[in-house]
Amino acid sequence: SERLVEQARQIGDITETTLRPQTLKEFVGQKMVRENLAVFIEAARNRKEALDHVLLYGPPGLGKTTLAQIVARELGVGFRATSGPVIQRSGDLAAILTNLQPHDVLFIDEIHRLQPSIEEILYPAMEDFQLDLIIGEGPAARSVRIDLPPFTLVSATTRAGLLATPLRDRFGIPLRLVFYEVEELQTIVMHTARKLQFSLSESAAEEIARRSRGTPRIAGRLLRRVRDFAGVDDEEGGTQAEVSRALVDRALTKLEVDRLGLDAMDRRYLHRIAEFHNGGPVGVETLSAALAESRDTIEDVVEPYLIQEGLVMRTSRGRMLGMRGWQHLGLIPPEQLGA
Ligand code: ADP
Repeated sequence: SERLVEQARQIGDITETTLRPQTLKEFVGQKMVRENLAVFIEAARNRKEALDHVLLYGPPGLGKTTLAQIVARELGVGFRATSGPVIQRSGDLAAILTNLQPHDVLFIDEIHRLQPSIEEILYPAMEDFQLDLIIGEGPAARSVRIDLPPFTLVSATTRAGLLATPLRDRFGIPLRLVFYEVEELQTIVMHTARKLQFSLSESAAEEIARRSRGTPRIAGRLLRRVRDFAGVDDEEGGTQAEVSRALVDRALTKLEVDRLGLDAMDRRYLHRIAEFHNGGPVGVETLSAALAESRDTIEDVVEPYLIQEGLVMRTSRGRMLGMRGWQHLGLIPPEQLGA
């Protein structure tokens, strides 16, 4: 896949792991989420109870995993991580749950991809800290009930709407993450550059921030690419010099990240709607087939930022190009051509 989000997602990306902010204070942006979490964490600590279950939802790369780790650290409890698609059998989940220490945080990423049969085991575990397991098969099968230590489930999903209502209802603390402001991303980029011992001007950091689709993971990715580029770019005076906005622009243009931060996939999507569907409306399935990209990727990764930026609109009849979309492509909407 050509998506930067996906490329950066590889597990074991050491820089990504070691550069994560460690405390709520260090975590830049998501003011509402941070303030809410601070209050609930403090309350749970004072009552010496497990924190209520937390659901973090929003587009990929906005800091859900990072926040889950921070929650555990701020609570002073253990952290275990798994993900929806990894849990194949009820025994897998049972093994994880029975190994938890009291008040631990269990993080389940991509919770919307949990199998329904496993989801059902999760309900009593979340509600009553009990595990109901069927042991054996046929007439010999019997059910056993196991008490679990009180724990906190922190889950992440791209859209809360992907979750079955009974599951969604069992999270006492649902929190929505939003795209970051340019200034917030600029701060994150400057922090990361400092940790990487890499010198970057304020305006260079701002340029990376502007072109990161509101997403810290992309900002980090672009920063690393800019660093690579700075090492070999002969228009700048060697690797020691402070990286300028001009160099960032050259590097990102080479990577086909345009002025709005859109990448090749974003532009293919916009062109498709403009040129094959007169600006829409067109259904997401049609776009998915035409672009050979899964519907999930289009809805979770491509569209949210384009919609927020007014490039695309989601209507009941399908996707339509917004005025900014036409402008960005340098095209004139058909209704204006007739006028
Ligand atoms: P998600 O789980 O939502 O996909 P992650 O928590 O894995 O996102 O974050 C992706 C990357 O972005 C990580 O490298 C993380 O350190 C960085 N990141 C996310 N949010 C922030 C933030 N608020 N401040 C600094 N870095 C962040």
